[in-house]
Amino acid sequence: MSDRLIYMDNAATTSVRPEVLEAMMPYFTQHFGNASSIHTFGRGARRALENARKQVAAALGCEAREIYFTAGGSESDNWAIRCAVEAKASKGKHIITSAIEHHAVLHTCEYMEKQGYEVTYLPVDEYGLVSVESVKNAIRPDTVLITIMAANNEIGTLQPIAEIGKIAKENGILFHTDAVQAVGAVPIDVNAWNVDMLSLSGHKLHAPKGIGALYVRKGVRISNLIYGGAQERGLRAGTENLPGIVGLGKAIELAVAELPEYTERVSRLRDKLIKGILDNIPDVQLNGHPTIRLPGNVNVSVRYVEGEALLMRLDLAGVAASSGSACTSGSLDPSHVLLAIGLPHEIAHGSLRLSLGNDTTEEEVDYVIEKLPGIVENLRAMSPVNASNLFSF
Ligand SMILES: *Cc1c(COP(=O)(O)O)cnc(C)c1O
Repeated sequence: MSDRLIYMDNAATTSVRPEVLEAMMPYFTQHFGNASSIHTFGRGARRALENARKQVAAALGCEAREIYFTAGGSESDNWAIRCAVEAKASKGKHIITSAIEHHAVLHTCEYMEKQGYEVTYLPVDEYGLVSVESVKNAIRPDTVLITIMAANNEIGTLQPIAEIGKIAKENGILFHTDAVQAVGAVPIDVNAWNVDMLSLSGHKLHAPKGIGALYVRKGVRISNLIYGGAQERGLRAGTENLPGIVGLGKAIELAVAELPEYTERVSRLRDKLIKGILDNIPDVQLNGHPTIRLPGNVNVSVRYVEGEALLMRLDLAGVAASSGSACTSGSLDPSHVLLAIGLPHEIAHGSLRLSLGNDTTEEEVDYVIEKLPGIVENLRAMSPVNASNLFSF
């Protein structure tokens, strides 16, 4: 097993599926036309573009003309937040979001604050859940947008999106959800959810990096993201990334077709891994909701060890995972998500995310369950701090 690498970081990015790559290939070579050209090459490209738009729309339960292709999740989040509120500027300048959003949403909201907007960052409970009541209570006459993620990328918690959508609709407020982690992992229906805008990203669902989409409900006014040509209904100019778009269409179609099987298989592996960790390692806790979570998400805090050290040992043992702190980015601040669910700094620092995906096998899960206790024991024994002596940051 040690000669083989195990990838358990699917929340960071996924591999491109062979079927997706195969679907994309002709659009680099034979069918390289510009979808705006009127000759045969151009018309072929246009057909592929509109077919992919239908595939994405079918996955979300909307119409093809409500789908706009973007360069990924971050771009979709930026577009939805910046340009939808711009179109509502006469109504007010208040935005509601949560404390555990992805930085693509949080940092955009911080930018909006600099532009004179007020932002309410709703707290979450110990499981990472936003209370529907707190959304209701935060609404003001000048609230123009609610943006709450469908599924959290760190701890996997799924939010009550349909209930929040209902409140947004009753109050005539635009509702955006960052569904980057949810699309391909849980069933999505933009009408049942009452969302006006939804962000998704290709590389989180086995399509390539650099392609994504934004769903915008018809009738919702959103201003231009990029000025130029007439692409994407004149709202996002630039010659389309056709191979990426074709890949996204194929990947999302496959994900939706396989969703029941994926959910059943991957959540069973997730629960086996969680149980294997909790049963075999002392002083470990699960982060996120025990059941209302993404099928592939495991996030634990291992006391008295550093998440970074754990990651490096796992990497040496052939397992790619992710830590729950932002130490990798050179800062010592633990993740804002782990702090928001109430973890003290020293516990947040010992956090580990193992995100399973389409390719994850039972043998891989068994291997991690077998290796991790020894790694933790070893790190704890080596550490100058031990179980009776918490470190301080
Ligand atoms: C990955 C991710 C994003 C960013 O998507 P990119 O395509 O990498 O820009 C946004 N939100 C969530 C929840 C994510 O997991």
